[in-house]
Amino acid sequence: MKPQKIGDYSVRKLVEVVDYLSPEFAFIEYDEFKCKDYLKWLSPYFMTSSIEGINLLFSFHSFVIEGNNKTILIDTCIGNHKERGALPSWHNQNRPYIDNLRSMGIETKDIDYVMCTHLHADHVGWNTQLIDGSWVPTFPNAKYIFSNIDYQKHDLIYKNRSKLNDQNPQPGEGDFYESWEDSIIPIINSGKYELVDYDFSIDDSLSIIHTPGHTPGHYCVNLKSRGEQAFFTGDMMHHPLLVSEPEWVTHFCLDPRQSSITRKKFIDNNTDNGAIIFAAHFAGPTAGQITNKPGFQIFKSLDNA
Ligand SMILES: [Zn+2]
Repeated sequence: MKPQKIGDYSVRKLVEVVDYLSPEFAFIEYDEFKCKDYLKWLSPYFMTSSIEGINLLFSFHSFVIEGNNKTILIDTCIGNHKERGALPSWHNQNRPYIDNLRSMGIETKDIDYVMCTHLHADHVGWNTQLIDGSWVPTFPNAKYIFSNIDYQKHDLIYKNRSKLNDQNPQPGEGDFYESWEDSIIPIINSGKYELVDYDFSIDDSLSIIHTPGHTPGHYCVNLKSRGEQAFFTGDMMHHPLLVSEPEWVTHFCLDPRQSSITRKKFIDNNTDNGAIIFAAHFAGPTAGQITNKPGFQIFKSLDNA
């Protein structure tokens, strides 16, 4: 994704890794025929086809927002040296995420806020890094913004934990116990966090919206500046296919039905209204808009992305 301007703010994407997943791995139920039909709209950046079948591209990236003398990081991907069982590309990695941040001209000390749209393993990983055998906050001057609802819900699950669940996770809970221990508890212990409700805002331009379903406290970040608007949608929509088929649900949502209701409402409210969508797992140019076609809605990448 090329850098984008939303009014007085800039948005850049910091990629950790791009994975290929099959539709069967991603979706609980989907229509294979329809899926193929979307290739003409969503290939090559979001899905590809081969004799083995359809592959869905899933990008794992953060967004860096700069403006009003602040630098904000949205979602912190998978992280390095973390014990993870959900996907091989998550487990015990050693990727140059911080070097790539530096190559954007940003040091870890420059980040003012880390906003986790929710507290799953692939959105909290770089909250911490392993230094001399301990997990410490990666961004020493940042305030980490966690949804109060998600924190309370996950804290309760953790306190009633059985680590066996990481081998046999409930939907949306893969690697939950490990990531809670190495990426959330160290932040809580550092005191560098705020548990927020949905009246939270950083300034007049940056606020959050409650978008429950994927997790009960999931939030989207809303950026408004000089008449322009963007949404950082986290895992409200995992793949551009879900813009056209919001009722297809993934294996990753704690409440799939609520996830679908939230997604459909958001899509209907933001079709052809000029809002720019920055989703947590959309690959390639990533930034785009929702537009109407006869009979369906489609995610369309920005020409300059
Ligand atoms: Zn995710």
